[in-house]
Amino acid sequence: MAGNRTFTMIKPSAMATGHAGDILAMMEKAGFRLIAMRLVHLSRHQAGIFYAEHSAKGFYEELTRFMSSGPIIAAILEKDNAVAEFRKLIGATDPAKADPGTVRSLYGKSITENAVHGSDADSTAEREGAFFFSQLDRV
Ligand code: ADP
Ligand code: MG
Repeated sequence: MAGNRTFTMIKPSAMATGHAGDILAMMEKAGFRLIAMRLVHLSRHQAGIFYAEHSAKGFYEELTRFMSSGPIIAAILEKDNAVAEFRKLIGATDPAKADPGTVRSLYGKSITENAVHGSDADSTAEREGAFFFSQLDRV
């Protein structure tokens, strides 16, 4: 059975353009409840650990530089079938390919600066939430 929690981040570009409130409102209107939330400016080291699964990819350097370029909001969200429902709300990784009305379509600027993160599986949501809400200050 699908779990009921996912993990999200509002990325630095969406924070810088003043869309954090709009994005949180979209999440709440879509029925996601806030379980934990934190505003934090990641170091390059912390961003590198969070995205370690992508360390062999060509975009890893650009991604970790971007994700440590300014403050983000990290949050744990709750809703039935949260991971899949949330990925529907945010749309495809590339904002240019995201369905109209999705968060990334509305607020994403490019494939790297795509406004928000959403976990891709229940196990990932658990690990990513734990990273921000119990591990972050120790790495
Ligand atoms: P998603 O965030 O949709 O799960 P991935 O897990 O594949 O996507 O990638 C993590 C993040 O890395 C993306 O949200 C995006 O910011 C960045 N990214 C992914 N693919 C590319 C790419 N081809 N070029 C630049 N940045 C990318
Ligand atoms: Mg992913």
